[in-house]
Amino acid sequence: MKKLTLRKDRTPVLNRTSNVNGDTIDFGYKTVQRAEKTKLVGNVFNSVAKSYDLMNDLMSGGIHRLWRMAMIDWMAPQPNHKLIDVAGGTGDISIRFLRAGGGSAYITDINHSMINNGRKRSKIGQLKKRLHWSIANAECMPFSDCSSDFVTIAFGLRNVTDRQAAIDEAYRVLKPGGRFLCLEFSHVQNDLLKSVYDKWSFNVLPLMGKMILNDSFSYRYLAESIRAFPSKEMLADMFSRSGFVQIRIRTLSGGIACIHSGWKLD
Ligand code: SAM
Repeated sequence: MKKLTLRKDRTPVLNRTSNVNGDTIDFGYKTVQRAEKTKLVGNVFNSVAKSYDLMNDLMSGGIHRLWRMAMIDWMAPQPNHKLIDVAGGTGDISIRFLRAGGGSAYITDINHSMINNGRKRSKIGQLKKRLHWSIANAECMPFSDCSSDFVTIAFGLRNVTDRQAAIDEAYRVLKPGGRFLCLEFSHVQNDLLKSVYDKWSFNVLPLMGKMILNDSFSYRYLAESIRAFPSKEMLADMFSRSGFVQIRIRTLSGGIACIHSGWKLD
């Protein structure tokens, strides 16, 4: 594995729009072969799947719930709306979409453990009939062209091997007039917040991972993959390359996370 050069503030020097560079690709701060990234990301989510929802609450102090609700509020789901939730994991976004009035939700994820743990969630109840789970790669999904009103990806794009391919694929499956939203960690601007956040994510999170799951590696990867992820402007540019228009960005919690939204016109 080749290591990327790091700046003093520990962010990688290489922060290009596309994460694919020939046969190699980013995995946190490392550069690995494409197939290796898929395997390594698979290992991360196999390891964390069982405690994934609990860890989200512990790591963010529950704030991730506000970010998720901000995305759902922005969507304003209606009973005739169909959602494809890419890299949907344990189904959090899809469940919120249906509770907020959406019609049906198709959760796709590459990882069996995440999907299986989602299916076991106790609070799904009556929503079960309108929730559909499938194993699929974000870069190549088993849905027809122009078949969905919304596509979402929450904290998933960072982990996908070829990000631009996944955004292209979101564009393909959306109906004309459909909308793509991406909720993802981003880059903190304020120096004071940044220094606290860096300490939290590089020191505290791996320690929590070690204590709760006996896995510090996955949470070190989380911190690194956030720093290596494109800026919000670069991500907006990737939306635009896939054909999305009226691209808007909402910055959350001082830049810790962002929601990008884009529309497919025709
Ligand atoms: N979207 C969920 C949420 O909001 O809680 C899960 C996010 S979890 C941090 C990232 C998910 O991305 C994992 O479930 C992982 O298996 C999935 N993933 C990674 N690469 C993928 C790919 N190429 N295609 C589909 N899912 C992928």
